[in-house]
Amino acid sequence: MTLVDVLLPLPLEGKFTYILPPALAIDVRVGSRVIVPFGAKRQYTAIVTAIKEEDVDDLKKLKEVIAVHPDPAPAVTPDQLTLWTWIADYYLCTEGDVLRAALPAPLLHPALRKRPRSKRKADAQGESTTLPPTLTPAQQQAADALREAWTRRPVALLHGVTSSGKTEIYIHLALDAIAQGRQVLYLVPEIALTTQLSDRLRRVFGERLGVYHSRCTDVQRADIWLRQLSDQPYDIILGVRSSVFLPFQRLGLVIIDEEHENTYKQQDPAPRYHARDVAVVVAHHAHARVLLGTATPSLESYHNALTGKYSLVNLKERWGAVLMPVIEIVDIRDLRRKHRMSGSFSPRLLGALRETLERGEQAILFQNRRGYAPMMECPVCGWVPRCAKCDVSLTYHRRLGQLVCHYCGTAYRLPDACPACGETHLKPLGLGTERIEEELHALLPEARTARLDLDTTQARDAYEHILDDFACHRTDILIGTQMVSKGLDFAHVSVVGIMNADTMLNYPDFRSHERAYQLMAQVAGRCGRRDRQGLVILQTKTADMPVVAHVRHYDYPTFYTEQTDERQLFGYPPFTRLIFIYLRGRDERRLTDASHLFRSRLDTLFNPTRVLGPEAPAVARVSGLSIRKLMLKLEPSYSPSVARSQLRQLLHDLNAEGALSGLTIHFDADPM
Ligand SMILES: [Zn+2]
Ligand SMILES: [Zn+2]
Repeated sequence: MTLVDVLLPLPLEGKFTYILPPALAIDVRVGSRVIVPFGAKRQYTAIVTAIKEEDVDDLKKLKEVIAVHPDPAPAVTPDQLTLWTWIADYYLCTEGDVLRAALPAPLLHPALRKRPRSKRKADAQGESTTLPPTLTPAQQQAADALREAWTRRPVALLHGVTSSGKTEIYIHLALDAIAQGRQVLYLVPEIALTTQLSDRLRRVFGERLGVYHSRCTDVQRADIWLRQLSDQPYDIILGVRSSVFLPFQRLGLVIIDEEHENTYKQQDPAPRYHARDVAVVVAHHAHARVLLGTATPSLESYHNALTGKYSLVNLKERWGAVLMPVIEIVDIRDLRRKHRMSGSFSPRLLGALRETLERGEQAILFQNRRGYAPMMECPVCGWVPRCAKCDVSLTYHRRLGQLVCHYCGTAYRLPDACPACGETHLKPLGLGTERIEEELHALLPEARTARLDLDTTQARDAYEHILDDFACHRTDILIGTQMVSKGLDFAHVSVVGIMNADTMLNYPDFRSHERAYQLMAQVAGRCGRRDRQGLVILQTKTADMPVVAHVRHYDYPTFYTEQTDERQLFGYPPFTRLIFIYLRGRDERRLTDASHLFRSRLDTLFNPTRVLGPEAPAVARVSGLSIRKLMLKLEPSYSPSVARSQLRQLLHDLNAEGALSGLTIHFDADPM
């Protein structure tokens, strides 16, 4: 009898076996999409992972495959199945989780449907008429160094200063790979970056370019997936995180732009994978080369480059010989004491903005908090409005007249008076982008401003409109969160203001200084013109922090050395591998008991020196669920696969004992 093992798009461990009726057998191969019954009445599209001939004693135990999707080729390649197994194992989730993240929704529809139709013409392989950009001598040198580096190691890190023209280098290397008959995967961390970039790439690669991100419709995504399996696949795919799951037939090069970006890591739901790291694995399986590019490398990648795992290529010259901006540190603690601040603006920053406007140039203001103020407080009794469902204070959004929880999204009306003492004037504390814009309107009424943050970019195309207005100089000053730090290039920006570095620097996380360095160096890199050196005003109350000086001097190597010394001392990545274990539940006592039990079992398995916690994380309750966190720190010699099977077994045992009932548990491997 012919049986098939299938993978279901459900968070369940293992594969499920079905009988393959002889009438369907001819169409089924490993990787085929089949429809199977599961549970009482439900049907799912599942992926065949194995076909086998076996005698079955009790036929009643097995159900039959209902139908086979009429795909011209299996929808999932054997390489992809291998990858999914690796991801599920490494990131401690199920292969069903990976399947759901990987396959576009229409391909998982549990009924036979007409295949999503391509809107493309038959001659879609047509050439583009534009030549690739000419490289400057510095770019050419970097490109040649990368080609040479790949003869020694498959992964190379391109550490190129901001505005050095890394994209042009990527284009040339992508053309190399395509000329050799190979395909290219070009990863960017956010949808935001694909808009500017896809136009640029389209000019070079024409119809050979596919763009894959979450704003594509599901049908478009399915279309790209199937085309990748056809005899006319795209030569180059530009995509965000999830494009690492696409099938490739002859992948030759993976470009990972802004490799340091933490948005490459999926936080929720499972699989909690890091697209950069998965892409390196994908490339390894395909014998492809990898190019990691950034002006501010992650400590992990730079460590890999310095220890010889990756090659390192430096590009220290900005395109067009534009100078790096001058970074001035302004100590706002001192200025506040002397009452010399105008709201959040130091005299130096305000003066620089005035001059910028007078010269007809543009500026960017960066503050990594959206809303008006991160907290409201009663000035009389100290009452602070908090979310009813989460353990956080509420952010005031003035334009909406609302208090909003940034963790669960619940909005509350701003009370007319303090419910504790009746005081009618609640005081905003801290600084959000909305407040900066309001202060700016009062201080520089002639300035045309725009705000770029999560609140202003909800509407479709809003992001593009805001950037387009700024690029065409219909606005003078762009105020924004980390969104303004992303590799955007504007010709007329001569001043960047970092409004307050302290919230980033004081965030309680071992990566906070790394992130602060990256954000500040990246946002600083947005300015600089050919005819005038750019100016960055960095406002901080902690001007004496070493990281501030390293940002000022663009001294990444010293920053790296200091940070890695500290990480080594305290046992953090890249010197250990971290696995976080989160327990969530409504019942505090049960949660506390379970997390202590978890800890004691971890101690037995791993030795107490490798275990930390349980602790309540910085935000210890979200959406009504309390959270506890345990941390495993594993030295490089500790086998990751052994650790993973120990954890799986532990979870299995605790579940079997009923110790985790009413709780949800998840693992986060290599957390960001
Ligand atoms: Zn009060
Ligand atoms: Zn909340």
